[in-house]
Amino acid sequence: MAEKRIVLGNCGKTDPQDIESYLKVGGFKAYEKARRMKPKAIVEEVKKSGLTGRGGAGFNCGLKWELAMNAKGRQKYLICNADEGEVGAFKDKYILSHDPFGLIEGMIIAGLAIGARKAYIYLRGEYHPLKGLLVSAIGQASGKGYLKDMDIQVFEGAGAYVCGEESALMNSIEGQRGESRYKPPYPPQRGLWDMPTIINNVETLMNIPHIVNNGAAWFSAMGAGRSKGTKVFSVSGDVAGPGIYEMEMGSTLKELVVGLAGAADIKAVQIGGATGNIIPGYMIDTPLSHETFLGSGAVMVFNSTRDIIDIVHNDIRFLNEESCGKCTPCREGTEVMLEIYGRLQQGDGRERDISTLEELARTMAAASLCGLGQAAAVPVLDSLRYFYNEYIDRVNQSQFLRSYLGGELVVSKEGIR
Ligand code: SF4
Repeated sequence: MAEKRIVLGNCGKTDPQDIESYLKVGGFKAYEKARRMKPKAIVEEVKKSGLTGRGGAGFNCGLKWELAMNAKGRQKYLICNADEGEVGAFKDKYILSHDPFGLIEGMIIAGLAIGARKAYIYLRGEYHPLKGLLVSAIGQASGKGYLKDMDIQVFEGAGAYVCGEESALMNSIEGQRGESRYKPPYPPQRGLWDMPTIINNVETLMNIPHIVNNGAAWFSAMGAGRSKGTKVFSVSGDVAGPGIYEMEMGSTLKELVVGLAGAADIKAVQIGGATGNIIPGYMIDTPLSHETFLGSGAVMVFNSTRDIIDIVHNDIRFLNEESCGKCTPCREGTEVMLEIYGRLQQGDGRERDISTLEELARTMAAASLCGLGQAAAVPVLDSLRYFYNEYIDRVNQSQFLRSYLGGELVVSKEGIR
């Protein structure tokens, strides 16, 4: 299947440093149309389109907007979540660097719909080089009179993965520690500085001008099930063509990683970064959607030379480092998991380690405060489900090594007894 470029439609065709080139391809026409619509009508159109959040959670975007539109508050805020910290994810970086005007147009329309006059682009700290481009694009849009209804500010994060979680992100903007908040209340009711707030991912907002221009029916005709429209993927790992690809929702993993990215030998694929599902190569015909696997769209391919225990160990090492430490299941759970994976890697694993990993993962999924701890369980449980034999092999190797080093085995010229 070929790519379907809607979100990426202008990338490479317009000059991200020059608003005139965006205007030449019909830029800001959706904004002009939205200004003639009532906020409720914009929200209805987005609701009917079935657009879901592209950051991973997959909540209906229009429904979320409706909550904020109806919420009371002397000020309402819109935040574009550009804190793309997921391992293997680089699609938002690509979008920001190629089509900043598309994002700004989507943000202004979102602001009109929910009644937000102040907006932030929360930019991942590591994407600092993009700040100048974004500030310039905002300045040019303002110079053309498109920012009469809204002020947009670029706010740089400080590199904490957990600040991609919306409540930690709001704490960060408020100048507090980047820690998740207890919920409820949810941001559309009480978010930034206790005011109604909508937080949308870059890719989500990029869809808005297209929905306003072409209508909800056009958008909802694409996709599968409740997953409408297209999805942008960052593909990396053991593929011939790593990069950014956009496909209709419901396209299969095979169409993406084999057809577009040129993978030839697939042992496993991790979808959604360090907290993503790990599925074996024989499941390559699975359609990609909210109903199956999707996450943020980071897809990493591993060939048959890769070690699954090593892959999950790396995921847990990353999550342990990035855990904010506020809640016990995640803080202590990732620590103990790290110890166990370290033991398995060093040839000192125990049989009970496997059941302890499973028990820890289930507890963390059920009791952690935010998505980091909850989803840390996913690669552990998937690897136990699909690659159990690799754990058993590692424990057997450890038992062999222990008995060998402990002198229980006798090595002689005749071999090992
Ligand atoms: S789950 Fe982890 S990152 Fe989230 S609040 Fe708890 S300790 Fe912090």
